[in-house]
Amino acid sequence: MSIECERVHGINLAQGVCDTTLPPSVGRAAKDAIDNACNSYTRYDGIGELRRAIARKLCLYNRLNTDPETQIIVSSGSTGAFYCACLALLNPGDEVILFEPYYGYHVNTLLAAEAVPTYVTMQPPDWSFTPQDLEAAVTSRTKGIMVNTPANPSGKVFSQAEIEWIAEFAMRHDLFVFTDEIYEYFLYDGRRHISPGALPGMEDRTITMSGFSKTYSITGWRIGYSASDPQWARMIGYMNDLVYVCAPSPLQWGVVAGLNELSAQFYCQLAKDYSVKRDRLCQALERAGLPPCSPQGAYYILANVSRLPGNDSKDRAMNLLSRTGVATVPGSAFFHGPQGESFVRFCYAKSDAELTEACQRLAGLE
Ligand code: PLP
Repeated sequence: MSIECERVHGINLAQGVCDTTLPPSVGRAAKDAIDNACNSYTRYDGIGELRRAIARKLCLYNRLNTDPETQIIVSSGSTGAFYCACLALLNPGDEVILFEPYYGYHVNTLLAAEAVPTYVTMQPPDWSFTPQDLEAAVTSRTKGIMVNTPANPSGKVFSQAEIEWIAEFAMRHDLFVFTDEIYEYFLYDGRRHISPGALPGMEDRTITMSGFSKTYSITGWRIGYSASDPQWARMIGYMNDLVYVCAPSPLQWGVVAGLNELSAQFYCQLAKDYSVKRDRLCQALERAGLPPCSPQGAYYILANVSRLPGNDSKDRAMNLLSRTGVATVPGSAFFHGPQGESFVRFCYAKSDAELTEACQRLAGLE
C-alpha cells in the first residue's frame, strides 16, 4: 500500500511509521553520545544507565519490581525483544494464543521460531472476549498467550477484569504471558494502563516487552527491552547477544535522557495530542460513511468499509486509495479468517497538516 500510495502521491495512513517529532533532549543526548565516542558495542543487555532507568520506570508506571542487573534485556526494538523471547523460551510446535485482530509481526515472529499461533477472535466494536473463549483455545501443546495492550490494530485497552481472566487462565494452565506494551502511554478517555506482570502470582511467568519507538517518535532507532524473571532473562539475553550483539550504543544514551529528563507532563500531553487526532479522524470517517471502531488506546482505527465496492478488504483499500488518495492497510492483514474483509486500518500518528489533508480527502467520499 505504501508503494502504491507513493505512486499516486497519496497520503499514507497505512504504515505506523510515526511522523511526529522526537523530544529535543532525546536527540541531543544521542548526538552528544556520538561526539563523546560512545560508539562501541555495549554489554549484551544494554548500558547500565539505561537498564536502571527502565527499572525505575517499570516500578513507577507499570508497578513491576525488577533488578536491572538480572532482569532487563535492552534489545533491537520491542520486535527484537519478542524474537529473542520466542527463540529462548519456545520449542518448535509449541502453541501460543493470540488475540485477533492481531499485529502481523506477532504471528510471523512465532512462525519464524517454528511456534504455532492459535487464535481468540475478539468481537467488534469494543473487541470483547470471554473466559470461555480462552478455554476453547487451549490444548496440551499451549505454552503461552500473547497480550498487546493497548492493541494494534484494534486500539483495545484490556480492562482490569480481562487481565485478571488472562492471569488466572495462564496460572491454571502454566503458560507464559508475553505482553507487548509498546503503546502503554497512548491511552484515551481516562483509561489506565495495566501491566499483566504486576498482578499477584504473575511475576515469574510474564515476559513484559516495550520500547521507545512510539513514545519518543524514534521508530528507526530500534531501542526496546524485555523484563522477566532472571531465569528467563538470562536465556533471552543469550539470544539477544547472538542475534543483535547489542542495541545501538549512542541511541541507548538518547533514551536514557528521555527517561531521566521528561516529566509526567510529557506523557500526559502525548495522550492528549493523540486523542485529538483520534477524534478528528473518527469524525471524518463517520461523515464519509466508513464507521470507525473508536480506539481506546494506541494510534490506529479499524473502520468498516463494507459499503465500498470490492470482493475483499484489499479491493476496498485500493478503491479508497484511488478515489481519495488515502492509503490504509486491508483488514485481512490482521485476521486469519474472513472477519477482516470488511475492515481497513488507518494510522493517525501523523502531523496535524497531513491529518487535515487526509480528512479533507475522505470528505470527497460523502
Ligand atoms: N508492537 C506493536 C504492537 C506494534 O504496533 C509495533 C509497531 O508498529 C511494534 C511492536 C514495533 O515496535 P519496535 O519499534 O519497538 O520494534
